Amino acid sequence: MSAVLIDGRQYAADLSARLADEVEELACTGERPGLATVVVGNSYPAHAYERRVRRLAERVGCHYVCEALPGAAAEADALAVVGKLGADPRISGILILRPLPAQVSEASLYRALDPIKDIESVHPISAGLLALGRPRYVPSTPASVFHLLDRYLTESGRDPAQTYRQSNLVVVGRSANVGKPALMLAMDRGATVVSCDEHSHAAGLLFEHTTQADILIVAAGVAGLIRGKHVKQGVIAVDVGINAIKDGDTGKVRLVGDIDTEDVAGRAEAITPVPGGVGPITDVWLLRNTVAAARLAQGIGAAFPSTEGLQLPVIC
Ligand code: NAD
Repeated sequence: MSAVLIDGRQYAADLSARLADEVEELACTGERPGLATVVVGNSYPAHAYERRVRRLAERVGCHYVCEALPGAAAEADALAVVGKLGADPRISGILILRPLPAQVSEASLYRALDPIKDIESVHPISAGLLALGRPRYVPSTPASVFHLLDRYLTESGRDPAQTYRQSNLVVVGRSANVGKPALMLAMDRGATVVSCDEHSHAAGLLFEHTTQADILIVAAGVAGLIRGKHVKQGVIAVDVGINAIKDGDTGKVRLVGDIDTEDVAGRAEAITPVPGGVGPITDVWLLRNTVAAARLAQGIGAAFPSTEGLQLPVIC
Protein backbone atom coordinates (compact mmCIF):
# COMPACT_ATOMS: atom_id res chain seq x y z
CA MET A 1 0.00 0.00 0.00
CA SER A 2 1.55 3.34 -0.97
CA ALA A 3 -1.28 5.85 -0.49
CA VAL A 4 -1.65 8.07 2.56
CA LEU A 5 -4.42 6.70 4.80
CA ILE A 6 -6.40 9.73 5.98
CA ASP A 7 -7.08 9.32 9.70
CA GLY A 8 -10.72 10.32 10.23
CA ARG A 9 -10.56 9.32 13.89
CA GLN A 10 -7.90 11.97 14.60
CA TYR A 11 -9.88 14.64 12.75
CA ALA A 12 -13.00 13.62 14.69
CA ALA A 13 -11.12 13.77 18.01
CA ASP A 14 -9.98 17.33 17.22
CA LEU A 15 -13.52 18.41 16.28
CA SER A 16 -14.96 16.68 19.30
CA ALA A 17 -12.67 18.61 21.70
CA ARG A 18 -13.95 21.86 20.18
CA LEU A 19 -17.53 20.59 20.34
CA ALA A 20 -17.29 20.09 24.12
CA ASP A 21 -16.09 23.72 24.44
CA GLU A 22 -18.96 24.92 22.26
CA VAL A 23 -21.52 23.09 24.42
CA GLU A 24 -19.94 24.55 27.57
CA GLU A 25 -19.94 28.05 26.09
CA LEU A 26 -23.63 27.71 25.30
CA ALA A 27 -24.33 26.39 28.80
CA CYS A 28 -23.11 29.78 30.13
CA THR A 29 -26.11 31.37 28.39
CA GLY A 30 -28.44 28.87 30.09
CA GLU A 31 -28.99 26.83 26.90
CA ARG A 32 -28.39 23.08 26.66
CA PRO A 33 -28.48 21.68 23.11
CA GLY A 34 -30.85 18.75 22.71
CA LEU A 35 -30.69 16.03 20.06
CA ALA A 36 -33.54 13.65 19.25
CA THR A 37 -33.29 10.60 17.03
CA VAL A 38 -36.25 8.75 15.52
CA VAL A 39 -35.80 5.06 14.69
CA VAL A 40 -38.57 2.91 13.20
CA GLY A 41 -37.95 -0.83 13.21
CA ASN A 42 -34.97 -3.00 14.06
CA SER A 43 -32.42 -2.07 11.41
CA TYR A 44 -28.99 -3.04 12.79
CA PRO A 45 -27.11 -0.10 11.16
CA ALA A 46 -29.76 2.40 12.35
CA HIS A 47 -29.54 1.18 15.95
CA ALA A 48 -25.74 0.98 15.84
CA TYR A 49 -25.63 4.60 14.64
CA GLU A 50 -28.15 5.61 17.31
CA ARG A 51 -25.95 4.13 20.06
CA ARG A 52 -22.85 5.94 18.78
CA VAL A 53 -24.66 9.28 18.61
CA ARG A 54 -26.17 8.75 22.08
CA ARG A 55 -22.74 8.09 23.61
CA LEU A 56 -21.25 11.18 22.00
CA ALA A 57 -24.21 13.42 22.94
CA GLU A 58 -23.98 12.32 26.56
CA ARG A 59 -20.20 12.70 26.61
CA VAL A 60 -20.29 16.33 25.44
CA GLY A 61 -23.21 17.25 27.69
CA CYS A 62 -26.13 17.47 25.24
CA HIS A 63 -29.67 16.50 26.21
CA TYR A 64 -30.53 13.35 24.24
CA VAL A 65 -33.76 11.50 23.44
CA CYS A 66 -34.34 8.48 21.20
CA GLU A 67 -37.88 7.78 20.00
CA ALA A 68 -37.90 4.13 18.89
CA LEU A 69 -41.02 2.81 17.18
CA PRO A 70 -41.73 -0.81 16.23
CA GLY A 71 -41.24 -1.86 12.60
CA ALA A 72 -45.02 -2.22 12.18
CA ALA A 73 -45.72 1.36 13.33
CA ALA A 74 -48.15 3.33 11.17
CA GLU A 75 -46.92 6.43 9.35
CA ALA A 76 -49.33 8.52 11.46
CA ASP A 77 -47.56 7.37 14.64
CA ALA A 78 -44.15 8.33 13.23
CA LEU A 79 -45.54 11.70 12.11
CA ALA A 80 -46.96 12.27 15.60
CA VAL A 81 -43.51 11.63 17.13
CA VAL A 82 -41.84 14.09 14.75
CA GLY A 83 -44.53 16.68 15.55
CA LYS A 84 -44.08 16.15 19.30
CA LEU A 85 -40.30 16.60 19.04
CA GLY A 86 -40.80 19.70 16.91
CA ALA A 87 -42.86 21.26 19.74
CA ASP A 88 -40.46 20.22 22.53
CA PRO A 89 -38.31 23.22 23.58
CA ARG A 90 -35.61 20.89 25.02
CA ILE A 91 -34.96 19.51 21.52
CA SER A 92 -32.81 21.63 19.19
CA GLY A 93 -32.16 19.10 16.41
CA ILE A 94 -33.92 16.01 15.05
CA LEU A 95 -32.38 13.10 13.13
CA ILE A 96 -34.66 10.61 11.36
CA LEU A 97 -32.67 7.41 10.94
CA ARG A 98 -32.85 5.29 7.80
CA PRO A 99 -33.94 2.80 6.64
CA LEU A 100 -37.64 3.28 7.35
CA PRO A 101 -40.18 0.49 6.82
CA ALA A 102 -42.15 0.59 3.55
CA GLN A 103 -45.35 1.92 5.12
CA VAL A 104 -43.58 5.02 6.50
CA SER A 105 -42.73 7.53 3.79
CA GLU A 106 -39.34 9.18 4.20
CA ALA A 107 -40.60 12.26 2.30
CA SER A 108 -43.64 12.62 4.62
CA LEU A 109 -41.49 12.49 7.76
CA TYR A 110 -39.01 14.96 6.31
CA ARG A 111 -41.83 17.38 5.44
CA ALA A 112 -43.11 17.15 9.02
CA LEU A 113 -39.81 18.42 10.48
CA ASP A 114 -39.51 21.94 11.85
CA PRO A 115 -36.88 23.36 9.41
CA ILE A 116 -35.03 25.06 12.30
CA LYS A 117 -34.57 21.63 13.91
CA ASP A 118 -33.75 19.91 10.60
CA ILE A 119 -30.04 19.40 11.25
CA GLU A 120 -29.61 17.05 8.25
CA SER A 121 -31.25 19.52 5.80
CA VAL A 122 -33.79 17.02 4.46
CA HIS A 123 -36.97 19.17 4.71
CA PRO A 124 -37.77 20.62 1.24
CA ILE A 125 -36.99 24.16 2.47
CA SER A 126 -33.62 23.06 3.87
CA ALA A 127 -32.77 21.02 0.78
CA GLY A 128 -33.67 24.07 -1.36
CA LEU A 129 -31.38 26.33 0.68
CA LEU A 130 -28.58 23.79 0.29
CA ALA A 131 -29.13 23.62 -3.47
CA LEU A 132 -28.92 27.43 -3.59
CA GLY A 133 -25.57 27.32 -1.77
CA ARG A 134 -27.06 28.90 1.40
CA PRO A 135 -27.54 25.93 3.74
CA ARG A 136 -28.77 26.48 7.27
CA TYR A 137 -27.04 23.24 8.28
CA VAL A 138 -24.65 21.28 6.09
CA PRO A 139 -25.74 17.61 6.35
CA SER A 140 -23.30 15.68 8.52
CA THR A 141 -21.97 13.08 6.06
CA PRO A 142 -21.17 15.36 3.09
CA ALA A 143 -19.93 18.01 5.54
CA SER A 144 -17.53 15.41 6.95
CA VAL A 145 -16.32 14.46 3.49
CA PHE A 146 -15.39 18.06 2.72
CA HIS A 147 -13.99 18.74 6.18
CA LEU A 148 -11.71 15.74 5.69
CA LEU A 149 -10.73 16.82 2.17
CA ASP A 150 -10.15 20.47 3.20
CA ARG A 151 -7.96 19.38 6.07
CA TYR A 152 -5.99 16.78 4.09
CA LEU A 153 -5.35 19.26 1.25
CA THR A 154 -4.22 21.96 3.67
CA GLU A 155 -1.93 19.59 5.58
CA SER A 156 -0.39 18.38 2.34
CA GLY A 157 0.55 21.96 1.47
CA ARG A 158 -2.21 22.83 -1.00
CA ASP A 159 -4.84 25.54 -1.11
CA PRO A 160 -8.16 23.63 -1.00
CA ALA A 161 -10.08 26.36 -2.89
CA GLN A 162 -7.60 26.32 -5.76
CA THR A 163 -7.36 22.52 -5.77
CA TYR A 164 -11.14 22.07 -6.10
CA ARG A 165 -11.30 24.59 -8.94
CA GLN A 166 -8.65 22.63 -10.81
CA SER A 167 -10.13 19.17 -10.15
CA ASN A 168 -12.41 16.70 -11.84
CA LEU A 169 -14.53 15.58 -8.90
CA VAL A 170 -16.72 12.50 -9.31
CA VAL A 171 -19.43 11.51 -6.84
CA VAL A 172 -20.69 7.91 -7.04
CA GLY A 173 -24.15 7.62 -5.45
CA ARG A 174 -26.98 10.11 -5.71
CA SER A 175 -29.05 9.75 -2.54
CA ALA A 176 -30.83 12.78 -1.07
CA ASN A 177 -28.86 12.36 2.18
CA VAL A 178 -25.31 11.83 0.93
CA GLY A 179 -24.65 11.88 -2.83
CA LYS A 180 -26.75 14.90 -3.84
CA PRO A 181 -25.62 17.20 -1.01
CA ALA A 182 -22.01 16.17 -1.71
CA LEU A 183 -22.56 17.26 -5.32
CA MET A 184 -23.91 20.63 -4.14
CA LEU A 185 -20.88 21.21 -1.91
CA ALA A 186 -18.51 20.22 -4.72
CA MET A 187 -20.22 22.63 -7.15
CA ASP A 188 -20.10 25.43 -4.55
CA ARG A 189 -16.34 24.90 -4.44
CA GLY A 190 -15.98 25.35 -8.17
CA ALA A 191 -14.96 21.78 -8.97
CA THR A 192 -15.80 20.21 -12.33
CA VAL A 193 -18.40 17.77 -11.07
CA VAL A 194 -19.73 14.46 -12.42
CA SER A 195 -22.50 12.48 -10.75
CA CYS A 196 -22.88 8.72 -11.27
CA ASP A 197 -25.36 6.23 -9.88
CA GLU A 198 -26.50 2.66 -10.45
CA HIS A 199 -27.83 3.59 -13.90
CA SER A 200 -24.41 4.90 -14.92
CA HIS A 201 -23.01 1.54 -13.84
CA ALA A 202 -25.67 -0.43 -15.73
CA ALA A 203 -25.02 1.69 -18.83
CA GLY A 204 -21.29 0.90 -18.66
CA LEU A 205 -20.42 4.56 -17.99
CA LEU A 206 -19.40 4.45 -14.35
CA PHE A 207 -15.73 3.54 -14.68
CA GLU A 208 -15.29 5.80 -17.69
CA HIS A 209 -15.93 8.65 -15.25
CA THR A 210 -14.22 7.31 -12.11
CA THR A 211 -10.96 6.90 -14.03
CA GLN A 212 -11.05 10.66 -14.81
CA ALA A 213 -11.49 11.74 -11.17
CA ASP A 214 -8.80 13.74 -9.37
CA ILE A 215 -11.04 13.56 -6.32
CA LEU A 216 -13.41 10.57 -6.03
CA ILE A 217 -16.23 10.38 -3.47
CA VAL A 218 -18.00 7.01 -3.32
CA ALA A 219 -21.34 6.58 -1.51
CA ALA A 220 -23.11 3.68 -3.24
CA GLY A 221 -23.43 1.06 -0.49
CA VAL A 222 -21.82 -1.62 -2.69
CA ALA A 223 -18.84 -3.39 -1.08
CA GLY A 224 -15.63 -3.17 -3.11
CA LEU A 225 -17.34 -1.47 -6.08
CA ILE A 226 -14.27 0.61 -6.96
CA ARG A 227 -11.00 -1.24 -7.67
CA GLY A 228 -7.52 -0.03 -8.58
CA LYS A 229 -8.19 -0.24 -12.32
CA HIS A 230 -11.20 2.07 -11.89
CA VAL A 231 -9.21 5.06 -10.62
CA LYS A 232 -6.66 7.51 -11.97
CA GLN A 233 -3.06 7.39 -10.71
CA GLY A 234 -2.76 9.93 -7.87
CA VAL A 235 -6.48 10.15 -7.06
CA ILE A 236 -7.67 11.34 -3.64
CA ALA A 237 -10.38 8.80 -2.80
CA VAL A 238 -13.05 9.24 -0.11
CA ASP A 239 -14.97 6.10 0.82
CA VAL A 240 -18.34 6.87 2.43
CA GLY A 241 -19.75 3.35 2.09
CA ILE A 242 -20.29 1.15 5.12
CA ASN A 243 -21.11 -2.48 4.30
CA ALA A 244 -21.32 -5.36 6.77
CA ILE A 245 -19.60 -8.45 5.32
CA LYS A 246 -19.72 -11.91 6.87
CA ASP A 247 -16.44 -13.81 6.73
CA GLY A 248 -17.14 -17.19 5.09
CA ASP A 249 -14.58 -18.99 7.29
CA THR A 250 -15.00 -17.41 10.72
CA GLY A 251 -18.64 -16.26 10.42
CA LYS A 252 -17.56 -12.92 11.90
CA VAL A 253 -19.06 -9.71 10.54
CA ARG A 254 -16.72 -6.89 9.55
CA LEU A 255 -17.31 -3.50 7.98
CA VAL A 256 -15.91 -2.61 4.57
CA GLY A 257 -16.32 0.36 2.29
CA ASP A 258 -17.34 0.77 -1.35
CA ILE A 259 -13.68 1.04 -2.34
CA ASP A 260 -11.30 -1.93 -2.39
CA THR A 261 -8.78 -0.15 -0.16
CA GLU A 262 -5.76 -2.40 -0.76
CA ASP A 263 -6.19 -2.36 -4.51
CA VAL A 264 -6.90 1.37 -4.88
CA ALA A 265 -4.14 2.35 -2.43
CA GLY A 266 -1.61 1.10 -4.97
CA ARG A 267 -2.63 3.92 -7.33
CA ALA A 268 -4.04 6.62 -5.05
CA GLU A 269 -2.30 9.59 -3.47
CA ALA A 270 -4.59 9.32 -0.45
CA ILE A 271 -7.56 7.24 0.64
CA THR A 272 -9.94 7.10 3.62
CA PRO A 273 -10.21 3.76 5.45
CA VAL A 274 -13.45 2.02 6.48
CA PRO A 275 -13.90 2.00 9.40
CA GLY A 276 -12.05 5.06 10.67
CA GLY A 277 -12.48 7.50 7.77
CA VAL A 278 -15.63 9.57 7.19
CA GLY A 279 -17.82 7.82 9.81
CA PRO A 280 -16.29 9.17 13.05
CA ILE A 281 -16.39 12.75 11.72
CA THR A 282 -20.05 12.38 10.75
CA ASP A 283 -21.04 11.63 14.35
CA VAL A 284 -19.33 14.76 15.65
CA TRP A 285 -20.72 16.91 12.84
CA LEU A 286 -24.26 15.89 13.71
CA LEU A 287 -23.72 17.19 17.24
CA ARG A 288 -22.10 20.37 15.89
CA ASN A 289 -25.26 20.98 13.87
CA THR A 290 -27.31 20.38 17.03
CA VAL A 291 -25.30 23.10 18.78
CA ALA A 292 -25.80 25.38 15.76
CA ALA A 293 -29.57 24.70 15.96
CA ALA A 294 -29.65 25.52 19.68
CA ARG A 295 -27.88 28.80 18.95
CA LEU A 296 -30.27 29.64 16.12
CA ALA A 297 -33.27 28.90 18.36
CA GLN A 298 -31.81 31.40 20.83
CA GLY A 299 -31.14 33.93 18.09
CA ILE A 300 -27.38 33.79 18.74
CA GLY A 301 -26.51 33.08 15.09
CA ALA A 302 -23.62 31.23 13.53
CA ALA A 303 -21.89 28.84 15.89
CA PHE A 304 -18.74 28.48 13.89
CA PRO A 305 -16.49 30.94 12.07
CA SER A 306 -17.59 31.39 8.48
CA THR A 307 -13.97 30.93 7.37
CA GLU A 308 -14.53 27.23 7.93
CA GLY A 309 -16.66 27.36 4.83
CA LEU A 310 -18.98 24.57 5.81
CA GLN A 311 -21.26 26.12 8.37
CA LEU A 312 -23.29 28.99 7.01
CA PRO A 313 -26.50 29.31 9.01
CA VAL A 314 -29.09 31.64 7.51
CA ILE A 315 -32.59 32.52 8.61
CA CYS A 316 -35.24 32.51 5.92
P1 NAD B 1 -28.71 4.94 -0.69
O1 NAD B 1 -29.00 3.48 -0.84
O2 NAD B 1 -29.79 5.85 -0.27
O3 NAD B 1 -28.15 5.48 -2.08
C1 NAD B 1 -27.17 4.78 -2.81
C2 NAD B 1 -26.86 5.49 -4.10
O4 NAD B 1 -25.84 4.74 -4.76
C3 NAD B 1 -28.03 5.58 -5.08
O5 NAD B 1 -27.99 6.82 -5.75
C4 NAD B 1 -27.76 4.43 -6.07
O6 NAD B 1 -28.27 4.68 -7.36
C5 NAD B 1 -26.25 4.41 -6.08
N1 NAD B 1 -25.73 3.09 -6.44
C6 NAD B 1 -26.18 1.87 -6.00
N2 NAD B 1 -25.50 0.88 -6.61
C7 NAD B 1 -24.61 1.47 -7.45
C8 NAD B 1 -23.65 0.97 -8.34
N3 NAD B 1 -23.47 -0.34 -8.53
N4 NAD B 1 -22.92 1.86 -9.05
C9 NAD B 1 -23.09 3.19 -8.89
N5 NAD B 1 -24.00 3.72 -8.03
C10 NAD B 1 -24.75 2.87 -7.33
O7 NAD B 1 -27.46 5.01 0.30
P2 NAD B 1 -26.85 6.27 1.13
O8 NAD B 1 -27.69 6.57 2.30
O9 NAD B 1 -26.50 7.35 0.18
O10 NAD B 1 -25.51 5.59 1.67
C11 NAD B 1 -24.52 5.11 0.78
C12 NAD B 1 -23.47 4.35 1.58
O11 NAD B 1 -22.88 5.24 2.52
C13 NAD B 1 -24.02 3.20 2.42
O12 NAD B 1 -23.06 2.16 2.47
C14 NAD B 1 -24.19 3.81 3.81
O13 NAD B 1 -24.11 2.83 4.83
C15 NAD B 1 -23.01 4.74 3.85
N6 NAD B 1 -23.16 5.88 4.76
C16 NAD B 1 -22.06 6.20 5.47
C17 NAD B 1 -22.09 7.29 6.30
C18 NAD B 1 -20.84 7.67 7.05
O14 NAD B 1 -20.88 8.49 7.94
N7 NAD B 1 -19.68 7.11 6.66
C19 NAD B 1 -23.26 8.05 6.43
C20 NAD B 1 -24.37 7.71 5.65
C21 NAD B 1 -24.30 6.62 4.80
